[in-house]
Amino acid sequence: MIFVEENGRTIPKEDKIFGINNRAKAMIKEKGKDKVVNGTIGALLDDDGELMILSSVSEVFKNLEPKDFAEYAPISGTLEFRKAIIKDAFGKYEPKSFVEAVATPGGTGAIRNTISNFTKLADKILVADWHWAPYKTIANELGRDIETFRLFNEARKFDLASFEFKVRELVNKQDKLVIILNTPAHNPTGYALTLEDWAGVKEIFKSLEGGKHVVLLADVAYIDFAGDEEESREFLKVLDEMSKNVLPVIAHSLSKAYTLYGLRCGAMICLAKSAAVAEEFKNACEYSSRGSWSNSPRAPQVMLSKIYGDDVLLGKVDEERKALRDMLLKRGKAFEEAALKCGLEMVPFNGGFFASIPCERAEAVCSKLEAEGIFLVPLAKGIRVSIASVSEDLCKILPERILAAMK
Ligand code: PLP
Repeated sequence: MIFVEENGRTIPKEDKIFGINNRAKAMIKEKGKDKVVNGTIGALLDDDGELMILSSVSEVFKNLEPKDFAEYAPISGTLEFRKAIIKDAFGKYEPKSFVEAVATPGGTGAIRNTISNFTKLADKILVADWHWAPYKTIANELGRDIETFRLFNEARKFDLASFEFKVRELVNKQDKLVIILNTPAHNPTGYALTLEDWAGVKEIFKSLEGGKHVVLLADVAYIDFAGDEEESREFLKVLDEMSKNVLPVIAHSLSKAYTLYGLRCGAMICLAKSAAVAEEFKNACEYSSRGSWSNSPRAPQVMLSKIYGDDVLLGKVDEERKALRDMLLKRGKAFEEAALKCGLEMVPFNGGFFASIPCERAEAVCSKLEAEGIFLVPLAKGIRVSIASVSEDLCKILPERILAAMK
């Protein structure tokens, strides 16, 4: 580093995933679209590789008044947005807890503010061994780090024993513990915690000695792409019924569900057991927002308020999204079936943007695939395939190609 202070971070020359994506784009330019499979990016693309956009949402954007985007939004978000995003997160379920929402620039902002406000410097944040890499980046940016538990046991189920072991280990060292669980349609595996998994998690927290405080961040960035929207939200009832020593926070995002990746909109939503805890949450998160990005963009907040203020429009958005979700789920099924047929092992998968293949030599296998024009993401424990960005036809042939490269 010449001028830069790394401060415990390791700063790479470029973001890994965007780097692979750039190489895929360069090969497309050189050899043509039909010679390249770009299974890297976490955005829903059509069969021709173009970004899919909800036209009903796009219409709302086009009809915005200048002051809908020019004016600052309140730091915690407009009142109408905060009401709408709570409805969007919970669906038909009505939480009994004290709920507060604070606007953030995407789910990323919610993750950042949760770590900054509910941990001490140098604390560890508990995440699964299969996880979205920016969790570590965000923790390191804030002078914290991550610790991992094993997501799956030998029976290919949620490894509750490993989760419990790590929770107990960390609460013995720290006053408080922030845990991030990304579900449903987990990135990178496509797993969704079952209600049984959740019941186990709840019991562990309840049994913590001395009522040690846990902040449980449910990262639901893909909640609308896991299957039926209401079924995917059933676990929120468990969050609502956690013991008093737990503060559940939902990291919500409009990036995927409203195809508004670039507008940067999301929220952090708490389910507090008392009004005092909810108020403290809102004050602290507002303060952190002021000290990082200040106000979040107003335009997407106005857009969500307009969608929730018009039942016909909301119905249209839901219907359009369902078509996207059904297409994605079909791709996932096709990939799963093809993997089963050729004997390629997958990490447990329920649905969503990604699937993963366990592999100890992921870097080498991905390099080999890249030479063949197939761009996937190597991870510490395997290979991530973005089902969201490849066609159903390609999903049917990719497993065989991956298996061949592994061999
Ligand atoms: N969480 C996970 C697991 C993700 O994959 C993403 C986006 O890729 C996010 C959160 C947050 O996305 P955004 O900040 O665009 O809302």
